[in-house]
Amino acid sequence: MDCMEWIMGYGNAVRQSLPGTQLRNFAVVLLGSVLAIPALAQISDNQIWNELASGNRRFMNGKPERRDLVARRKELEKTQSPRVAVLSCADSRVPPEVVFDESLGDLFVVRSAGESADPLAVGSLEYAVEHLGTVVIVVMGHQSCGAVKAACSGEKPASQNLDAVVTPIAASCTKVDKSKPDTFDLAGRDHVHSVALELLAKSVILKKAADEGMLTIVEAYYSLDTGEVTKLR
Ligand SMILES: [Zn+2]
Repeated sequence: MDCMEWIMGYGNAVRQSLPGTQLRNFAVVLLGSVLAIPALAQISDNQIWNELASGNRRFMNGKPERRDLVARRKELEKTQSPRVAVLSCADSRVPPEVVFDESLGDLFVVRSAGESADPLAVGSLEYAVEHLGTVVIVVMGHQSCGAVKAACSGEKPASQNLDAVVTPIAASCTKVDKSKPDTFDLAGRDHVHSVALELLAKSVILKKAADEGMLTIVEAYYSLDTGEVTKLR
């Protein structure tokens, strides 16, 4: 018996035992309960983002949480269950655990220059969602990204490996006005959006989890100037 069948069956039982006004009141409460189910899932995702944003504010204010890392390491000896995965650039100025003021076991982090959705990144995120219970993936780009600048420069990369870094970003460079001073950041933001869409397009596992309401993908951008991570979508 699925949820709706249970509700319909329960409704029939109540209809036989309640007079008119009480029945209407019951119907309002029941409808409210049904409509609240997706709303609650949304709140949960929002709560997770709010916690990340709070950590980011602590980082910006120079007031990181005091932590007993030795105790936390021991707690995590045999297990991990990070609710959040972050796909971000390898840039040394943008470590997710630091900018979100999170600890051991909190974030499942996948990093490469330009945070592209290549098979290793997608497979790593599938592992987190499938086996570790991750429910939010943050795709995080950042201001003045060297990989984005290289991709938008049009110059030929010095190796096949470097080509693999810039090629996935090149499409975003063609979408922005190159005469604007913030060209690279516009391209970087577009690339974050493309990567978020690619994760779902390239992965049956991630798409299924998202469709079932078990996974939310958040697009975010880190400012080197302020240290703030802004939620784009
Ligand atoms: Zn970068």
